[in-house]
Amino acid sequence: TAGKALLRVDSLQVRYGAVQALKGVSLHVDAGEVVTIIGGNGAGKSTLMKAISGLEPAAAGSIAFEGQDITRMPGHLRVPLGIAQSPEGRQVFADQTVHDNLLLGAYHRRDGAAAIAADIEAQFHAFPRLRERREQMAGTMSGGEQQMLAIARALMSRPKLLLLDEPSLGLAPLIVKEIFAIIRQLKAQGVTILLVEQMANQALAVADRAYVLETGSFTLEGGAAQLRRDPKIRAAYLGAH
Ligand code: ATP
Repeated sequence: TAGKALLRVDSLQVRYGAVQALKGVSLHVDAGEVVTIIGGNGAGKSTLMKAISGLEPAAAGSIAFEGQDITRMPGHLRVPLGIAQSPEGRQVFADQTVHDNLLLGAYHRRDGAAAIAADIEAQFHAFPRLRERREQMAGTMSGGEQQMLAIARALMSRPKLLLLDEPSLGLAPLIVKEIFAIIRQLKAQGVTILLVEQMANQALAVADRAYVLETGSFTLEGGAAQLRRDPKIRAAYLGAH
């Protein structure tokens, strides 16, 4: 129902000087859902993620989280509310170890070192490759490993909403498969995810619902399975005709 969305974005606009990157988009994400935003280069996908996490200001419109208006709340205050972003391009702390990157993901938590250590252990269980590399400098890891670390670090904040910005970017097909398997696993655990992707086929396969973003506006939305069968989507985003 209309009232109980975890995240609700209404008529959101974002501008970079004269460029209107988002022209008034509205979406909602309910608890437990995986929702994907698909769209080509420059459509505004990253801008939308940054507006939700507080890295880009809204020029107009509103963003609400658990019914609270957060449109003008600074990004660092949104993390403790339960919004965590795994940014495009991964952006792990290159000269920190894997372990310390995970620790930094929990920087705002006040529930004590033991709880945080237990969660690091849980991430090592979920991502065995990170355990093997716990003392390795993050910047020396492969792209796929850094992507896993970026996701694990975001999870260390115990988010209610995980924002994943193009987790497949620049990764080999086999690693992309692995990343999507991880997303599927998170979904099975009940993690609520907003996923931005150019790899529409994989994104639609894992998502419950989807929005199609074209030059700053949503042109289509619906059930992911339904959009995956849509001839327009197939022609434009799935390389099929
Ligand atoms: P991609 O998949 O290529 O990353 P995207 O859908 O994530 O694309 P955005 O990065 O959100 O797209 O960019 C949307 C539009 O806003 C583009 O036209 C882009 O050039 C512009 N833009 C993004 N960031 C800035 C910025 N800091 N200053 C000026 N224009 C920007």
